[in-house]
Order: sequence, then structure tokens, then C-alpha cells
Amino acid sequence: MHMNYDLVIIGSGPAGLSAAVYAQRACLNTLIIEKTGVSGGQILTTEEVDNYPGMPGIGGFDLGMKMREHADQLGGRFVTGEVVGLTDHGELKEVSMADGSTITARAIIIATGASHRKLGIPGEQTFAGAGVSYCATCDGAFFRNKTTAVIGGGDVAVEDAIFLARLCQKVYVIHRRDSFRAAKVLSDRLLSLENVEVLWNSVPLEVTGEGSVSGLRVQNKLTRDERLLDVSGVFIAVGMEPDTALYKGLVKLDPTGYIIADETCRATTPGIFAAGDVRTKPLRQVVCAASDGANAVYSVQRYLEEGPQSHA
Ligand code: NAP
Repeated sequence: MHMNYDLVIIGSGPAGLSAAVYAQRACLNTLIIEKTGVSGGQILTTEEVDNYPGMPGIGGFDLGMKMREHADQLGGRFVTGEVVGLTDHGELKEVSMADGSTITARAIIIATGASHRKLGIPGEQTFAGAGVSYCATCDGAFFRNKTTAVIGGGDVAVEDAIFLARLCQKVYVIHRRDSFRAAKVLSDRLLSLENVEVLWNSVPLEVTGEGSVSGLRVQNKLTRDERLLDVSGVFIAVGMEPDTALYKGLVKLDPTGYIIADETCRATTPGIFAAGDVRTKPLRQVVCAASDGANAVYSVQRYLEEGPQSHA
């Protein structure tokens, strides 16, 4: 199977879906490739998105579905499949799919987002799905009236701990510094909860258990004291990593793996664009990803009309 498009969008989170809407309105012959067959990306597992303008309190899943419906209404063409390679042949870019098919396009928008960073400690992988989780809103209900631990100190860790404190008997929060990175309003709310104990300056060493999680060994970095916490769930919320391994060598990445591109979303290779969390940027929010989708398509249009010189 071989198909040729003006534009292929890889990824169907808010950046990819916004790009789909703009590309349809620009009458570009476009294909959107999504890995799982469910559009929405990271917001699918966000309980509530309370900062997308005009949609106060909307559930993440609902917002994802609305964005997808919008692209569908405009005639967006979606395919489910895993991209395993992207080759630059100059005017044409070739996308290789896991099923062996290839798709060619004059321009590509990479909107693959980011996924959960791993800690790399013993037991993390062994107990993934058996007590170790990266999504409190997805898995929290399994730990009703139990004791859990959350690792991290950013917005996600603090939001997760607040959410779990409503369900669990007790929640430990393990953070490597002595203050949270999370917004103050969230941190204050967490610190006011009676069933939450924060272990500052502490790092997790090992998840223990047999068959499922029964403990978390932690160490205080200042005193070197170790403690084995009696927990049945460990929620890891230590940030995200971009899904860019496939594109290394094709476009320049920053030292943390994000695709280098400014607000025009132009990556360092003409005809390749990066939109959403996958791009270097100071703030990663749904509204920023949606904005990138629009900017990326604007840049794609210029590239298709003016050629590589628009990509300087
Ligand atoms: P984040 O802001 O990067 O925070 C990651 C946290 O994990 C930090 O506290 C960091 O510690 C800690 N950490 C990182 N690596 C670690 C390791 N190896 N061991 C132990 N701890 C480690 O990530 P996030 O919380 O996932 O949030 C991602 C983005 O989404 C942020 O921009 C956030 O503002 C945004 N967000 C916003 C909202 C909202 O506005 N309501 C909600 C959710 C997410 P240090 O603090 O010491 O670096």
C-alpha cells in the first residue's frame, strides 16, 4: 500500500487534533496517524481540565472526544497504526508503518507528545500494573481504604496525592527536595489534608512485594536513614519524556530529547514540523498544544507554497 498526501500528522492529542482542524480548513490532503485508535493523548487520563478557555471543569476524556468530533466534522481522515520510521527524501517524506506499509507526504507534523518518565528503581517494572501506576485517576479506585505513596513534587504528583487522599486511608508523598514545584494553591491544599504525610528530601530506592506491591523503601537524602513504608500502591509522577526516539538523527533534539522548534513549529529539517509537548517550549498545557497545531499548519502551508526557503 502506498499513499501520497500533502500532510501527514503523527499523533492525535490536542496538538495533532488542532492541526487536523486547521489542515482540513486549509483544504490540505491530510492523513492523521494515531497509535491506539483513541484520540485525545494525555488528556484522556486527566480527570478534569480546568484551564482550557471556555470549558471550565470539563473532563479530559470529554475534551479529547470533542476535539476529535470537530476534526471528524470537517472530514479529517484518521488511520490507526504504529509509525516505525520516518525518512526524508527532500520533497517527499516517507513514513514507515509497523505493518510494513509506507505513506508519503510533502510535509510532516510530529505531534507524538510525551509519556511518563520512569524512575528506574528495582521493582518498578516488576510491579507495573500490580501496584505500580503512572495514573492516579485511572488506577486510584483499586486502592480504596488502602495506603499508597506518590512520588514527585510537581503539579501532577500533588494533584494525584489530593485525589488519592479522598479514597485512601493514608497517602505518603515522597519528594526529593524540601519544597514542592507544584502551584502554591495545590501545595497548600495537599498540606492541609490530615491523611497525607510528606517525606521531604527523600528518594525511593525499591518497590517491594510478592506478586503485588507491599512496600516502598525510601531514603532521606540528608540523614541517609532508610524506611520501609507499608503501602499497596505506588504512584509515580516524576514528569514526562518526549516520544522522539524515532526522529533522532532526522531532526535536532535538545539534551532532554525534545524536538528543537520555535513557535513556527519548524523543526531543523525542511518540511518537518513539531507541535505540542514534543517541541521545546517553556509551558506544556492543552491550550499550548492546540495553539501549536494551528501554527504548525500555517507553517506547513507556507512551506508547501514557497518551498524550503520558507523553512529557514
Ligand atoms: P514536572 O512539573 O516536571 O514535575 C516533576 C516532579 O518530579 C518534580 O517535582 C521533580 O523534582 C520530580 N522528579 C523528577 N525526576 C525525578 C526522579 N528521578 N526522582 C524523584 N523525583 C523526580 O512534571 P509534572 O508534574 O508531570 O507536570 C508536567 C507539566 O504539566 C508541568 O508543566 C505542569 O505544570 C503541567 N501540569 C499542569 C497542571 C495544572 O495547571 N493544573 C496539572 C498537571 C500538569 P524537582 O521538583 O526536584 O525537579
